[in-house]
Amino acid sequence: MSVTKKRDLHTDTPLWSLTPRIGVRSHAVPLKQYYDVVIVGTGISGALMAHALADGTRSLLVIDRRKPVGGSSLASTAMIQHEIDVPLGKLQQRIGKAKAKRVWARSMDAVEKLASKIEYLNIGCGFARKRALFLSGDEMGWRALRDEAGLRNGAGFDAQFIDAAALRSGYGIDRTGAILTDCSASANPAQMTAEFLRQAVRGGAELVCGPEVMDISSKSGEVELVLSSGETLRCGNAVFCTGYEFLDSVARADHSIISTWAIATRANAPRPEWLDDCLVWEAADPYLYMRTTSDGRIVAGGEDEDDPRAHEDQRKLKAKQKTIARKVSTLLGCQIGEIEFAWAGAFGVTPTGLPIIDEVPGMRHVFTVMGYGGNGITFSQIASEIISAKLSGHRDKDFDLFRFGAAPAPRKAA
Ligand SMILES: Cc1cc2nc3c(=O)[nH]c(=O)nc-3n(C[C@H](O)[C@H](O)[C@H](O)COP(=O)(O)OP(=O)(O)OC[C@H]3O[C@@H](n4cnc5c(N)ncnc54)[C@H](O)[C@@H]3O)c2cc1C
Repeated sequence: MSVTKKRDLHTDTPLWSLTPRIGVRSHAVPLKQYYDVVIVGTGISGALMAHALADGTRSLLVIDRRKPVGGSSLASTAMIQHEIDVPLGKLQQRIGKAKAKRVWARSMDAVEKLASKIEYLNIGCGFARKRALFLSGDEMGWRALRDEAGLRNGAGFDAQFIDAAALRSGYGIDRTGAILTDCSASANPAQMTAEFLRQAVRGGAELVCGPEVMDISSKSGEVELVLSSGETLRCGNAVFCTGYEFLDSVARADHSIISTWAIATRANAPRPEWLDDCLVWEAADPYLYMRTTSDGRIVAGGEDEDDPRAHEDQRKLKAKQKTIARKVSTLLGCQIGEIEFAWAGAFGVTPTGLPIIDEVPGMRHVFTVMGYGGNGITFSQIASEIISAKLSGHRDKDFDLFRFGAAPAPRKAA
C-alpha cells in the first residue's frame, strides 16, 4: 500500500489540459540509488520546491506516480491571492493577533516573490497581476466586511471597503458591500508548474514519473523510500509535496477533502471591462469565484460539497456547470455565452485555512507540505522558502506558523 492515499483528483477536462507547453520530459526510473534530496510530487508545490533547491549544491530527484503536472495543479483555477480563505478577524481568534498578522504579511510577500520570480525567469504562463474584490454574502454581510477591512488596515494591509452604492455604480454588482485589495494575480497553473519543473531540471534536478512511493523509513540520518517498482532509494532528506494526497501517517481529522467544480467560457466572452483587472470571490456558502484569462475567457468555480467523491459524478458536473454559469451571469448582469470547459476535482480544507509545512513527527529528515485550502499556489511558494531555508541550514523567521501543532489538533482522521 502507498504512503499516500491515491484519489481521483480531477476529471480529465480542465481548461489547462489543452494548453501548450505543459509537458515535461521525465525518466521512468531513477538513475541513482542515493540523492541528497528527493521531492515527491510534480504539482505546483513540488515544482516550486525543486526550483528553490536546484541550485547546484545538491543531487535532487523529483518523483511522481502520475505524469508531470497530472495532479490538482492541472485543475486549479489559479487565483493567486494573498487573502487567505479564513478572514483576518477569524484567524486572529483562532491563532492570536500577532500570528495572524504574520501569516497575512507572509502570504502577501509570497505573491510578490512569485511574481518577481516569474518575471525574472520570463516564465510564459499568462501571469497577470490583479486586484481582488471580496463580496458580501450569507457568511459575511457589509458590516462584517467593513470591520474586516478596518482590521486589515489596522494591521498595516491595504484594504478598501466599498459600500453598496459604490459597488453598483463602479461594478454593476448588486451586493451590500465588498473589500477591494490590490495584491493578487492569476496565471495558467499548468504552464507555470511545467516551466518551474523544466527550470529545476536545467538546474540539475532529475525528474522521474511512474513509480509510486510505497514506504518510508528514517534512520541513522538517512531516509529510505521504497518504490512500487521494487527499488529502494536512499536520500538525505525527503520532501512530500503530495497535495491533497497527504501522508496517511499525519492525516488529521480536520483536514477534510471535499468536492469542487469549475467552468471556463469561450475566448472573448461577453464581460464587463473591469473584470479583466480583478479576481472576484464572495463570503458565501456555497461560494462563487471568478477571474478572466488573457484570451478573454471567464473562469469561475465553487458550488463545493462535503462529499469527497461527488466530483466524480458526471451528471453532477453538468448540473454544477449550469448553476455556476447562471450565478456568474446574474452577478455580472450579462449573459456570459457558451461554456467550453467544465471540470471537477477534490479540494482540501482546513479550519484555519493554513497548511502544515514541517518535519514529520518521529521521522527525521522527512518533510511534508500539506493541508492547503484554496490558496495552494501562494502556500506552495511559502513552503519552498521555508523548506529550502531549512535544508540550507537556516531557520525561516515564520517556521513556527506552519508547524505541526501550530493549530490545535483534533482526533486523528479515520
Ligand atoms: C477546481 C480547483 C480550483 C482551485 N483553485 C485554486 C485557486 O484559484 N488558487 C489556488 O491557489 N489554489 C487553487 N486550488 C488548489 C490548488 O490547485 C492546489 O492547492 C495545488 O494545486 C496543490 O498543488 P500540489 O503540488 O501540492 O499538489 P498536486 O498538483 O496534486 O501534486 C501532487 C502530486 O503528488 C503525487 N503523489 C502523491 N502521492 C504520491 C506517492 N505516494 N508517490 C508518488 N507520487 C505521489 C501525485 O501524483 C500528484 O501529481 C484549486 C484546486 C481545484 C481542484
